[in-house]
Formats: sequence, C-alpha cells, structure tokens
Amino acid sequence: MEEPIYLDHAATTPLDLRVLQAMLPYLTERFGNPSSIHRLGREARQALDEARGSVAEVLNASPQEIVFTSSGTEADNLAIKGVAHALLLEGKGNHIITSAIEHHAVLHTCDYLERLGFQVTRLPVDGYGLVHPEVLAEAIRPETVLVSIMYANNEVGTIEPIPELAAVAHRHGVYFHTDAVQAGGSLSLDVEALGVDLLSLSAHKFYGPRGVGMLYVRRGVPLMPQIHGGGQERNRRSGTENVAGIVGLATALRLAQEEREAYNAHCLHLRERLIAGLLERIPSARLNGHPTRRLPNNAHFCFERVDGESLLVKLDQQGIYASGGSACTAGALEPSHVLTAMGVPPEMARGALRLTVGRQNTPEQIERVLDLLPRSIEEVADV
Ligand code: PLP
Repeated sequence: MEEPIYLDHAATTPLDLRVLQAMLPYLTERFGNPSSIHRLGREARQALDEARGSVAEVLNASPQEIVFTSSGTEADNLAIKGVAHALLLEGKGNHIITSAIEHHAVLHTCDYLERLGFQVTRLPVDGYGLVHPEVLAEAIRPETVLVSIMYANNEVGTIEPIPELAAVAHRHGVYFHTDAVQAGGSLSLDVEALGVDLLSLSAHKFYGPRGVGMLYVRRGVPLMPQIHGGGQERNRRSGTENVAGIVGLATALRLAQEEREAYNAHCLHLRERLIAGLLERIPSARLNGHPTRRLPNNAHFCFERVDGESLLVKLDQQGIYASGGSACTAGALEPSHVLTAMGVPPEMARGALRLTVGRQNTPEQIERVLDLLPRSIEEVADV
C-alpha cells in the first residue's frame, strides 16, 4: 500500500523535530520543578521565563500577560469563566455574547455558565460563517461583560473580522476574547493589531506538542482563576508547570510565525488545486466557508446523497486521513452546528468532508486524492 496521506491538520499536526529537540532536555536531565530553589529548579524556571518571553514577543504582549494552560480548551474555559466570574463578583453584569459556530470548548462553557444563571447570546452567522460587526453591536446590552468570537473556524476555515468585532465590544466597554487555536499556525497574532483582551492558543495545531496551550490576558483584565492550588502562573492557573510542553509551545510558535509566509504559500497552492480539482470532478459538490477569507490550509465540502462517516471510513481504507468536521464532534450523528448555523440544509450537511493540508503534503499526494475521491464518493452515495 502507498504511503498514507494525512489531510487532517486542523485536528492536530505532527511534532516538528526542532521542537522535540528543544523539549528533550526538560523531559530528561533538566527535570527540575520551576518552584524549587536549587540549581535544577532554577534551570527549569529560566526555561519557563524564556518561553514566556518568546511567546510574549510573538504576540506583541508582555510576559506577565501570558498564562500557560494544559490545552486550548482550558484556555477558553479560563478566559470565559474567569472574566464572567470576576465581573459578576464586582457586580458588573452577567451577559456573555458568543457566536453559533464556536468550538465546543467555548459553546459548552457558555452553556455551563447559562445553567449557573448567566445570560448568553449566540450570534448568527451568514452563509459563509462570518459574524457581522453590526449584528454584534445590536446584541450588546448594559449588562454585557464579555464577547468571545473565534479568529478562524475549525470546520470551514472562515476568518472572522476580529479587529472590527473587538472595536465594537470596546466601544461599549466590553472585554473581547478570541479563540485563536486554529489561527496560530497561519495568521498574525499581534494582540495590539487585533485589539483583543484575551486570546487562546494550543501548541498541537502548529507542530507543537499536544496537551499544552496558553491564554493571553491583557494587563488589567479581571480574571478569576479556575484551578486553585500552589499559585503558579501568578495565581491565575495553579499546578506544576509542564516545562517541556511550554518550551515546545514557545519554540513551535516562534517557528510557525517566522515561517508563516512560506507555509501559507505552500498550503494555499495545494489547497487551491484540491478545491479546483474536486469541484471539476464532482460538480454537485458544495464548497463551504468563505472563498477568500479562509485559512490557507482548509478545504471543506458537502456532497449530495453521501453519509460523511461512511466516506471517512472509505477514505481511511485507502490511506487518506480526513475529517468530517471537528474531531471532537466526529461520531455524533447530528449535522455539524457550524454548517447548520450557516444555513446548509441537513441532507447536505450530513455529507461533510474537511481536508486540511500541511507541511508534509505534496502536489503528488493531492493528485492522488483527486484520483481516488470521486470513486469513493460514488461508492458510498445512496442510490
Ligand atoms: N478551539 C478550537 C477552534 C479548536 O479547533 C480546538 C481543537 O480542535 C480547541 C479550541 C481545543 O484545543 P485543544 O485540543 O488544545 O483542547
């Protein structure tokens, strides 16, 4: 069998060997706890400080504004619950605004807060998955404390107008969080240019290790810790730091941002061929998401009369690794909440296929996918 073709980079990416090299000493001989006073501890502390400084530089932030977490999910939870709880205690209000197409790390956190008595507005999106600033402006109330809207969508790749949305929130004195987990590898993360108060990232989406994330928290933004304990991360997230993971995140982020232009050009080239080739071979296919305001590595389609799960199994048998939508909702039978919010009819939404390219993909692989895909679709289509 030929080499498998991995087209699921939105789910996770392989670890960059340069990142592994940077991490290895902290998994082996430099194993100290950064809170220890002795030399081993101080070495670990120094690695942590350097990683924080490096991340802050990439984000155009200061090191004190970076909180390391165990994942993008935890960063989203900390941002939303942290601000909501802090402002509730200050008696400021209990209304949160998000969008209907967020990752479940945001949506389920908002559902949970709603059960606790917070009010939540989930903004609609247009047919491309865009949140419109005027729609946000209309939803803001005197008791609104936080807006959370993702930078780029994990299913269809649509890039939201974050600077404009953040400006609307700020005009009303409301804090703005963005889940930038999918954007970390390919878009600018300058928090000043974006105008955001909080921003979440996850290392495994840009060739770093799984199980480590971070939250940028602008100085002065009230944040109630969600994990209590030894007071690490300036009391904002307790727990002995994952030094190797954090070094990995910082190294991967720096490399991703330094190599962004070439990476995006590489992905865009493959992605455009994939889209053009597929639409040519399967004219009834529908491309989802915005035609231009989309992540350079994302292609997302729906096919008529096709069950997405069966298609994924068929592709897997042929060594093509893809996804139906977000990995976290794979296995669920109901159509994706993102496609539903974009107005994709349910019978079309059930036949969703997300192909996300990355560093190791080649033009030859894309041609092979284009050769194999039409037959696979035909084989799983209802008759
Ligand atoms: N937010 C978005 C947009 C994502 O795509 C993901 C992962 O798929 C997450 C949050 C969760 O990140 P993590 O896997 O680090 O928990």
